[in-house]
Amino acid sequence: MSNHERKIHPSTAVLTAGFDPALSVGSARPAVFRSSTYVFPSPEAAERAFSILGGRVKPEPGETAHLIYSRFNHPNAEIVEAHLLPLENNAQAAAVFNSGMAAIMTAIMAHTRPGDAIVYTVPIYGGTQSLIQNFLEPWGIHGVPVAGGDSAALDSAIQHTPHCRVVLLESPANPTLTMTDIARAVDSASRREPRPLVMVDNTFLGPAFQHPLALGADITLYSATKYLGGFSDILAGAAICKDPEIMRPIRGRRSLFGNILAPDECWILDSRLPTVHLRMNRQSKNAQRIVERLAAHPAVNRLYYPSLFTDPEQIRIRDAQCDYPGGIFSVDLKGGKPAAFEFLRHLQIARNAVSLGGVETLVCHPRSTTHSAVSQQELQLSGVVDGLVRVSIGIEDWRDVLSDFERALDRAAALTAA
Ligand SMILES: *Cc1c(COP(=O)(O)O)cnc(C)c1O
Repeated sequence: MSNHERKIHPSTAVLTAGFDPALSVGSARPAVFRSSTYVFPSPEAAERAFSILGGRVKPEPGETAHLIYSRFNHPNAEIVEAHLLPLENNAQAAAVFNSGMAAIMTAIMAHTRPGDAIVYTVPIYGGTQSLIQNFLEPWGIHGVPVAGGDSAALDSAIQHTPHCRVVLLESPANPTLTMTDIARAVDSASRREPRPLVMVDNTFLGPAFQHPLALGADITLYSATKYLGGFSDILAGAAICKDPEIMRPIRGRRSLFGNILAPDECWILDSRLPTVHLRMNRQSKNAQRIVERLAAHPAVNRLYYPSLFTDPEQIRIRDAQCDYPGGIFSVDLKGGKPAAFEFLRHLQIARNAVSLGGVETLVCHPRSTTHSAVSQQELQLSGVVDGLVRVSIGIEDWRDVLSDFERALDRAAALTAA
């Protein structure tokens, strides 16, 4: 039996599928192809490659389109895209971009026109919020925000928003980890004609613990800068679809915009994919152990983490769509901003930086950094209070990170008591 006939598991496929050593002079790991342009064997081959690129002819079964120019496609993009597919259940097509924002922007621009509307959950990543409010809205694409986790409001917005073409979900939401029911949003979208596309920003729990395509979503979006890249040393993004026809216009826009991920970055990202499950499992276990021990600390007002959910609806969504709680939590400190800053000042292992998903533990104060441009009213809605600190747990020995946090929390508690 060939690999195609036998069902192989994702962690095997990511190492064996999609890369032919014969095309890299037999090297066990892919080469980097930095060429900006590709030599055609004949003028007819060049003509055919352009006809396929332009969508004027469809490739024959088994025919791979000849490479043309690296803004359209290049071998390292093809290799990393082939390795992204087995990580996402039900995926048939992947495209890599030079940032997560590039992936989100290109997916939306490929499937909307001026006059269309996007329904999206809030809070949402600040860059995405700004893309919708400050760029798409003046461009003629109307954005309709709905509070994450509010299934009834989401159903209603999907049913009643005129010209709704895209439903964009981010679950869990940053920084409170509120979850939105993906399968229900898909169901709601499929009751509209024409059916809006459901896109899910899966950066926080994917690809290890949440699989939007298996829940019926059309497009999974990633900031590959985070867990996929895993070491806080590259910027990258990805869009993954179960239907190649949905990917086709996204690839077309990517060729036009010139935001394909460059060959060196593709090679780096590709080398990180085989360990993403190992890293995320360790990060999730570490986070769970640390969070459960911090819950009783006197400096802590409230912890936000999926295994500590108390709302029955949030628990139901979590159990239905997530395998493990993941490596990110937020902690609201008694004593507000001064306590949060005192905590950050006294950390010795965890570093005070934005971003997440790297092998090192990072901690930030959303209210004064990532969410500082958000209006007061939206801050209240999204639970970004003055004492809130967001934590992305790494792969360190969890006991060291725990005692680092406990020491710094003691300082925060002393400040509040004083
Ligand atoms: C970081 C992030 C983005 C943006 O990704 P970049 O790679 O920084 O462009 C989008 N969504 C979420 C949830 C993120 O955390």
